[in-house]
Amino acid sequence: MGNLRVGVIGCGAIGKEHIKRLQHKIQGAEVTAVMDVFEESAKIGAELAGGVKVYTDAVALINDPEVDAVVVTTPGFAHKDPVLAAVKAGKAVFTEKPLCTTAADCREVVDAEIAAGKQMVQVGFMRRYDRGYKQVKELLDGGSFGKPLVVKCTHRAIDVADSYTTEMAVNDTAIHEIDCLHWLLDDDWAKVQVIMGANTKNAHEGLADPQIMIMQSKSGVTVILEVYVNCKFGYDINCEVVCEDGTIGLPCPSFPIVRHDRKISTDIEQNWILRFIDSYDVELQDWIDGVKDGKVNGPNAWDGYMAAVTADALVKAQKSGVMEEVAFGETPDLYK
Ligand code: NAP
Repeated sequence: MGNLRVGVIGCGAIGKEHIKRLQHKIQGAEVTAVMDVFEESAKIGAELAGGVKVYTDAVALINDPEVDAVVVTTPGFAHKDPVLAAVKAGKAVFTEKPLCTTAADCREVVDAEIAAGKQMVQVGFMRRYDRGYKQVKELLDGGSFGKPLVVKCTHRAIDVADSYTTEMAVNDTAIHEIDCLHWLLDDDWAKVQVIMGANTKNAHEGLADPQIMIMQSKSGVTVILEVYVNCKFGYDINCEVVCEDGTIGLPCPSFPIVRHDRKISTDIEQNWILRFIDSYDVELQDWIDGVKDGKVNGPNAWDGYMAAVTADALVKAQKSGVMEEVAFGETPDLYK
């Protein structure tokens, strides 16, 4: 089979990154068309791909006969329509996380796949492809640490745009841990709570930051996650799994350890582009390989739905302040 011809919908920050990696790094794919509601952004995306077709209408791109598969990199609230349109057109689709911003919208995608009789959607939960998380999972699955009991995580970023809302701390930020820890522990979420306390002066008006999210799995593992998106000092992702017979910590990116002026110091990564650069490459290569084999190799629409159900419960918990139940319902046969 020749190159898979990919159309990219949404030419913002990660859209541009994915256009470059699909065109210049990934094997077996080429970008043939790009789309953005803002034509100037689409033109920049087209240039990054070496001069390809420009669309400002997502359905027109999806229906282009020179587009075999679609990548959706619009903001989360604008994922549902192009994902559904691609599924209905019978084209494989990779969408950035979250699949959609509510469980009800994700369920529509799941139902569209069930109606089509096949999985077509992969969700951009790229931490499953991160070398460090994979190493943690291997150790955990090896069994010599005993069963996991508690997971302590931080998800810190330097700052966020003024459009970032308190709810986005769940469905844009914590959504990574919601999916990744479910995969890491091979367990589903049962109940969740959010604790908000002292707020940083660096958050814009109306944004609760930081937030402590507690998630308990069906087997009783408790996750304590600090989401702090105006920490100012770096993009700082940490994860420590406390087990019966030891702990397993996620490796941090390595930088030189310098001794200077009577101090020992090292760097903290600055942003997600650099922190997870290798994971995005491996993730998109796996998506392309899967599409060529007629499969979804990575996180699927049901994973996206389960993450959204959990996110909805966390958003409810942000308002109620108490533990909220998480209920997914029966897994459809297509995803068993
Ligand atoms: P962004 O910089 O705002 O880019 C989104 C682009 O889509 C913008 O050019 C925007 O145009 C355009 N757009 C808005 N509505 C659209 C629509 N209905 N149809 C087509 N284009 C539309 O956002 P981003 O940071 O790239 O994030 C995009 C997605 O990637 C989000 O879902 C985000 O959660 C995800 N993401 C994932 C990771 C990860 O680590 N996996 C990292 C970053 C982002 P305007 O600017 O004119 O609105």
